[in-house]
Amino acid sequence: MNFYLKLSYGIYSGESIAIGRWLIENFISGFKGEMDMAQLNFQTLSFELKGEMLKVNLLNIFSTRIPLKELGKIGPFKFIDKNTIEFVDTYEHKAEKKFSFLLSKYFDGLVNTINGNKAIYVHQNSGIPLIGSVSFGIVYRNTSLIEIKPITSCNLNCIYCSVGEGKNSDKVDYVVEKDYLVEGLQELLNFVVEPVEVHIGVQGEPFLYADLIPLIEDLQENKQIRIVSMDSNFTLVNKKILDKLSKFDKLRLNVSLDAMDPKLAEEMAGCDYKLDQVLEMIKYSVSKGIKILIAPVYLPGYNDKELEKITEFVEDLGVEEKENHPLLGVQNFLNYKTGRNPVKAVTWREFYSLLEAVEKGKKIKLKLTPERFGIKKTKPLPKPFKEEDVVTGAIKARDRFANSCLVVAKGRVISVPNCVFREGKKVKVKITRDKHNIFNGKLL
Ligand code: SF4
Repeated sequence: MNFYLKLSYGIYSGESIAIGRWLIENFISGFKGEMDMAQLNFQTLSFELKGEMLKVNLLNIFSTRIPLKELGKIGPFKFIDKNTIEFVDTYEHKAEKKFSFLLSKYFDGLVNTINGNKAIYVHQNSGIPLIGSVSFGIVYRNTSLIEIKPITSCNLNCIYCSVGEGKNSDKVDYVVEKDYLVEGLQELLNFVVEPVEVHIGVQGEPFLYADLIPLIEDLQENKQIRIVSMDSNFTLVNKKILDKLSKFDKLRLNVSLDAMDPKLAEEMAGCDYKLDQVLEMIKYSVSKGIKILIAPVYLPGYNDKELEKITEFVEDLGVEEKENHPLLGVQNFLNYKTGRNPVKAVTWREFYSLLEAVEKGKKIKLKLTPERFGIKKTKPLPKPFKEEDVVTGAIKARDRFANSCLVVAKGRVISVPNCVFREGKKVKVKITRDKHNIFNGKLL
């Protein structure tokens, strides 16, 4: 079921009739209406009373608050269950319209409940395209591996995190409507034509995305998608979730496991971390036939001695390595401006000689290459503009970092630093990066 948020803009622009219809068809999952009673039932939203406020939860970890005083203006109301509100003495169409208006107004104050940061809901009526940002939506680097990013946010705080995610993050977060993402991906697949791997590679932990399983379900059913892969820290999975995932034969889970020593694992995770549980869930996944790839990050001076132990753990899982499915792949820690950098990265030469030393006498290979995953070059997606072009676009949302905005032009998102947020304002931007249809710009 889709979610609808932009009703107010529709009303202001005279589109209220069409948008009201969209609301009924997409946002409200169930509706019972009589002359003097309106019952609104939602799938993606749930409600809680908090003093004088109504807490509205979106997709589990995002929420906003609406003053009860404002709700009371629609009419007397009561809660039937956590997803349903009933307004009495109110005509149904009025209740829908007014409640949607309130949602639209207060979703401007949407926050991520994990870190308290501002959050943005990217949905089919948000006016925010899915291509152009490296943080959310779709990233296509002209290969048969397409990345999709339905959420930003993490429940850990890894000391080496390349995107500085987690409980201590102070960045704006995004959550993307599942159907919008799937439709956008289908458009790209129609262009690519060839079989692909779709990688759910989020800036954070994908199991925080409430619609993750329905999303995988949609990807699994798509004949053009041969593999669905996903990076996860595996701290949020349980047997029930894994039982559900075990029916997806295209799925491969890349699990970040950085140490076999519980204290070191916790130190690297930067917060409470239950190594035993992660190991148990890896073993359970294997027992259920779920494809697993263990993907530690090598952090010099921290887990040098752990790589050997992790390799032994993977060998003990007793899984045979198959074509396009490596079992272990160590990633080299790199220094990023936007990441946490507890140490200086080693050179690639040093990294590979370390891997060679650990590999010695073992069947398992530790070095990952695109060929081992069967990834090929595919045709490039045309860019609507290129570096140095000057483009006129509209400011649509705040970008991840403070004082930066997302500008939208020609169906692409452009990240623009040093930009004061004024929704809808037309601006001129000089494109400073266009690689792989990921755009940065400079405000003129
Ligand atoms: S490295 Fe991954 S698991 Fe760790 S904080 Fe960053 S996003 Fe989360």
